[in-house]
Amino acid sequence: MAQQFDYIVLGAGSGGIASANRAAMRGAKVLLIEAQHLGGTCVNVGCVPKKVMWFGAQVAEAIKLYGPDYGFDTTLNQFSWSKLVESREAYIERIHGGYNRGLDANGVTLVKGFGKFVDAKTVEVNGEHYTAPNILIATGGRPTIPAIPGAEHGIDSNGFFALTEQPKRVAVVGAGYIAVELAGVLHSLGSETHLLVRKHAPLRNFDPMIVDTLVKLMAAEGPTLHTHSIPKAVEKEADGSLTLHLENGNSLNVDCLIWAIGREPATDKINIEASGVKVNERGFIPVDEYQNTNVPGIYTVGDIMEGGIELTPVAVKAGRALSERLFGGQPEAKMDYSLVPTVVFSHPAIGTIGLTEPQAREQYGDDNVKVYTSSFAAMYTAVTAHRQATEMKLVCVGPEEKIVGLHGIGFGMDEILQGFAVAIKMGATKADFDATVALHPTSAEEFVTMR
Ligand code: NDP
Repeated sequence: MAQQFDYIVLGAGSGGIASANRAAMRGAKVLLIEAQHLGGTCVNVGCVPKKVMWFGAQVAEAIKLYGPDYGFDTTLNQFSWSKLVESREAYIERIHGGYNRGLDANGVTLVKGFGKFVDAKTVEVNGEHYTAPNILIATGGRPTIPAIPGAEHGIDSNGFFALTEQPKRVAVVGAGYIAVELAGVLHSLGSETHLLVRKHAPLRNFDPMIVDTLVKLMAAEGPTLHTHSIPKAVEKEADGSLTLHLENGNSLNVDCLIWAIGREPATDKINIEASGVKVNERGFIPVDEYQNTNVPGIYTVGDIMEGGIELTPVAVKAGRALSERLFGGQPEAKMDYSLVPTVVFSHPAIGTIGLTEPQAREQYGDDNVKVYTSSFAAMYTAVTAHRQATEMKLVCVGPEEKIVGLHGIGFGMDEILQGFAVAIKMGATKADFDATVALHPTSAEEFVTMR
């Protein structure tokens, strides 16, 4: 006999946990199924451990680059990678504890095991059957490994977080968030780091001002950027090192190779065929604006939805909206996927929301677009020998100069963006920014003082 629930959630990542908790708060009898640790990618092998490593890199930069000119006579005897990892993992353990307590408090039933569909209303875990009229697929994604000879000698972002010792010489292959973030962290913590991108630059979809600044900063400070570098094969040498052979004829010998070329959806092992849910040729699940799949009563949020935005807060918001719609008496509740702010934890951080300048020009025409920029050395760095560029841009459209894009790279940009994202989501114009009194002295004030 199958155990009956109102709502089954497959996958206890950010989206799954948020949706399960919200449904339970609204009175639903909820089953949450997870084979690994609570929190999914973000908490265990993504945002959270990455941010801890990034903070570690900030500390390293403060000691090495900025401390001396602030008068600190710092001699760094050693850096212990394993200590940083220990602190990080202890922090993650505490987050797991918080999740467990939250699920308990809301009355969500948690089953540890790998869930597979039996039919559109039934899921099997550890030989037990569970059934519900509503099922959420929130199984997330995993890193993609290229299909080239020797690729298995490399690791992915999961492998990066499993490293117990600092690699001396590293190649990071890829051009997205993960490649840029991991390469930056490794470089700042002292590894000889090479970032290999297959085109002319990393983060090609970001505003050109961001890309140009990042590339310039990498040229000046590292990591070493290798453009037009496409791996062809990987060879393991007798001394354990790896030689990466490139299509352009070059090769690179390193101790550690990290693939960061994108992620793919984890829809292939849950027997999704039995549910009748359609997936596209890459395994992503198409949904409508209410997160409905093609099968009534089956929904999806997060990294496995087709055309989604692979960000934790997006999955969380979509998961909660879905539960409000199903169990909270809000039949129209849905996620608004427009104007999603995003931060890349590069060195320095990148913050962006809305259209890039080329996108705005394409969409509204050159005559309707006005761009404001600001360029300076962040004060924190400007008093030292290690001045670091900050670049900011507002993209405005129409006679009222509505701000349709805000972009920045520079010290503190990760924390600056959120408040401006609220203003832009509310439809702020350049005049609204001008009418706001600046906070002085900050980098953020430049966004309200541009001429
Ligand atoms: P992305 O999709 O962001 O970037 C991967 C990039 O790698 C591609 O855009 C492509 O860039 C390049 N690439 C693709 N295939 C190959 C290949 N075969 N060889 C070399 N390069 C290749 O993937 P990520 O894995 O970095 O991140 C996944 C998502 O996770 C992100 O999009 C983001 O939404 C999220 N994330 C968010 C973070 C944050 O909020 N700070 C941090 C980390 C991840 P090109 O075409 O230019 O070569």
